[in-house]
Amino acid sequence: MTSTKPPGARTGRVVDGCYAAQLRDCDGRISAEHYVSEALLRRFKRGFTVEGSSWAAVPKRVGTAALTAKVLCQRHNEALSGLDAMIGGFYDFLRAAIIGPHAGSRIFDGEDLERWSMKALLGLTVSGNIASGGKKARASEVPELYLRILFGDEEIPERCGFMYIVAKIPSLEANQLTLALNHHPLDGSERSGRVFGLTVRMLNSFQYVTSITEPLETLNNEPLYYRPTRIQLGDPERGRLGLRWGGGDWRPGKGGLVIGLATTVLSHGEEGHHQR
Ligand SMILES: [Zn+2]
Repeated sequence: MTSTKPPGARTGRVVDGCYAAQLRDCDGRISAEHYVSEALLRRFKRGFTVEGSSWAAVPKRVGTAALTAKVLCQRHNEALSGLDAMIGGFYDFLRAAIIGPHAGSRIFDGEDLERWSMKALLGLTVSGNIASGGKKARASEVPELYLRILFGDEEIPERCGFMYIVAKIPSLEANQLTLALNHHPLDGSERSGRVFGLTVRMLNSFQYVTSITEPLETLNNEPLYYRPTRIQLGDPERGRLGLRWGGGDWRPGKGGLVIGLATTVLSHGEEGHHQR
C-alpha cells in the first residue's frame, strides 16, 4: 500500500490555508498543487470533465490550470505524492489494455484508488473549482474523518470505499477522465447537498465510486460491486487487474468482474485519434 502518512513525529504545527490543518501536523509553506495528479496531467493536456456540481446538471470541461490550487502545506502535499505515481501507472495499464493486444496482469492496492479519489475530491471542493451546495468549502469544514483516512490514520468505515459501477458506460465523446461529486439530494434535510464521495471514470472504460461515509447498494439505480479483487479488462480479455485490500498478499476471492473497454482512446496530448 502506498504510504500517505507524513514521516516522523507529528509537528504540532498548523499552516494557514492547508485543508489538513486540523490534524496539526503541517510544515513548510503552502504550495500550488495539481490535486488531480501531476502524473495524469503530464499524460494529457486536456480531456478532463467535471460534473455533478449541485446547481448544474451539465458536465463541464475544465482545463488543467483550473486543477491547480494552493490547498495543502508542503508536508501534507508531499505525503500524498506516492498516490500520484500510482495513478499514473494505473492509467498506463488501462490504456495499454485498450490499445491491446494484451496488457498482462497487474495488482494494485484498492485503498490507493480510494485515497486518490479522496485527494481529488478534497482538492476540487476546497479549491472552489467545484462547489458543494453552491459554496466553496473551507478548510475548517473538511470533516476530520476524511483527513484521518486520507493521511493513513484511520480506515474507511465498514462497507464504504471503492465500489465498481457495473453499468454500461454511455458512449459519449472519448474522455480521459471524468470526475463527479456524489452528494445527497437537495431535499432540505440536514444532509441535503452534502458530499459523501466521488465517482471516477477513466478512459471511458473504468468507473468506480469511492463513498467515504455511505454504504451503498446502488448508484442512480445501477448495481455496485463492492471492493472487487479481480477484474478482467475487455472481453475477449485484454488485461487482468488484481485489487488487493488491507495490504498483505493479494487474494483472488470469489467471482470476478468482466468489464468492457472503450474502442477509442485519445493519444497522449492529442484528441480525436482513433484506435481500435
Ligand atoms: Zn498541512
